[in-house]
Amino acid sequence: MLQLNNPSLLKKSLFINGKWLKSKITTTVTNPFDNSTISTVSLCDKKQCNDAITYAQTAFKSWREFTAKQRSNLLYKWYELILANKKDLAQIITYEQGKPLAEALGEIVYGASYIQWFAEQAKRIDGDIIPPPNSDQRIACIKQPIGVVACITPWNFPNAMLARKIAPALAAGCTVVCKPSELTPLSALALTELSRQAGIPTGVINILMGDAAMIGKQFCASKIIKKLSFTGSTAVGKLLAAQCVDTLKRITMELGGNAPFIVFEDANIDSAVEGLMASKYRNSGQTCVCTNRILVQKPIAKIFKQKLIDAVKSQLVVGFGANKDVTTGPLINQQACLKVDELVNDALKKGAQIDYQDTTREGNLYPPTVLSNVSAQMEIAQQEIFGPVAIIIEFDNEQQALEIANNTDAGLAAYFFTQDYRRIYRVSEALEYGMVGINSGIISNEMAPFGGVKQSGMGREGSKYGLDDYLEIKYICLGGINS
Ligand code: NAP
Repeated sequence: MLQLNNPSLLKKSLFINGKWLKSKITTTVTNPFDNSTISTVSLCDKKQCNDAITYAQTAFKSWREFTAKQRSNLLYKWYELILANKKDLAQIITYEQGKPLAEALGEIVYGASYIQWFAEQAKRIDGDIIPPPNSDQRIACIKQPIGVVACITPWNFPNAMLARKIAPALAAGCTVVCKPSELTPLSALALTELSRQAGIPTGVINILMGDAAMIGKQFCASKIIKKLSFTGSTAVGKLLAAQCVDTLKRITMELGGNAPFIVFEDANIDSAVEGLMASKYRNSGQTCVCTNRILVQKPIAKIFKQKLIDAVKSQLVVGFGANKDVTTGPLINQQACLKVDELVNDALKKGAQIDYQDTTREGNLYPPTVLSNVSAQMEIAQQEIFGPVAIIIEFDNEQQALEIANNTDAGLAAYFFTQDYRRIYRVSEALEYGMVGINSGIISNEMAPFGGVKQSGMGREGSKYGLDDYLEIKYICLGGINS
């Protein structure tokens, strides 16, 4: 049972124009560990969805007039309240999403760091004075908020993915209508309640749960909404991008990945195993930047595999995330387990072998697994596994490793381990990815630009670039200076 110190954080309703609104239609939120019911939440209808968009437009007119410092102060207040309530927020994540408490706490601090960062960046939306081509004119550029922004987020980071979108939007002077995943709405609602307590004005943040296709269509068709920021699967991202064509909305797409993790023969093997454990098994393998394919150079393949198996055996404890010592929680639902099973079985049929598999298999718990003899052509190497299954592909040389690594439509994160400084330059420049980790399995933070290339999306979240997507540049020309 969820036991919050601050029970006001457990909300069950839609949040529209500063009010918590119940509706007749509801859905249950379940604990992925045992499928028990945690709560029921309201789902919106078409009218409530449109109302939220209209209220966000009204709020935009006044929010954009707040000074940067006022917006910054409110974001700071929100950030402080999130940290003050981090244990409760982490507990909500563990119960509705499944990740262990320590990891959930990490997500809260990570999500909050974007709010703190954009509270700072809100004061740095500088314009330009540009030298004019003739003495009679002066040229200036100012940056203005794009308008109402729609945010759609997935279940795997139910707090941080939303924080990473709302924070830059509000810093820029935009207002938002958000749709978190129906599987994990409680984290979004708790975050919103804290924004209300922080004093963020009515209508600036609106949260809707409901029929995803209906809400998606309403968002995309709306002329009021000027930008859609989506994090989720590539398939849904493509659908939404197509739906945005009629209104020519600006879009940010944070989509799926297929991260290669390349271990060269000159790597420090122990630190490569450590990096892999972090990037493969975090969130039970359910992150967009999780290692998907482990590429190991042949001369070190045997020793690397043994060290990996030792680490998996000795470090991972599968179970309910609220229990002490558990490192690997359940997958989000049974469907997710079946999909991982399908990929593993297909690989086994085509010649892969299981080198290690944990014995715990109950409910939605998926046993940490290590597979070798995998080929780059197998389905398991082509798709996002989204489960705690490590697959090892062996390679002969750098050229071959790069060919395998780049032979995918995805281009989000890639990792490699080497101690050769020349290879560091060659390989990091040749990898067709938006983010590259060298001798490091954890790369995401609020100061760095997060995002992908190819079919992993467009736009960047975080960093000094993260505000650009929420701003329009206006060019102002003043003539007649000499008259
Ligand atoms: P998903 O099925 O695409 O869902 C993402 C969001 O889209 C959810 O809120 C979902 O709502 C909503 N949605 C589903 N169908 C929709 C439609 N027709 N119109 C509008 N919205 C719709 O993805 P997921 O399974 O939740 O998340 C996992 C995926 O997200 C993975 O591919 C992962 O790599 C990717 N991801 C990417 C990043 C990144 O930054 N690049 C970060 C995290 C995750 P419901 O859940 O309520 O159906």
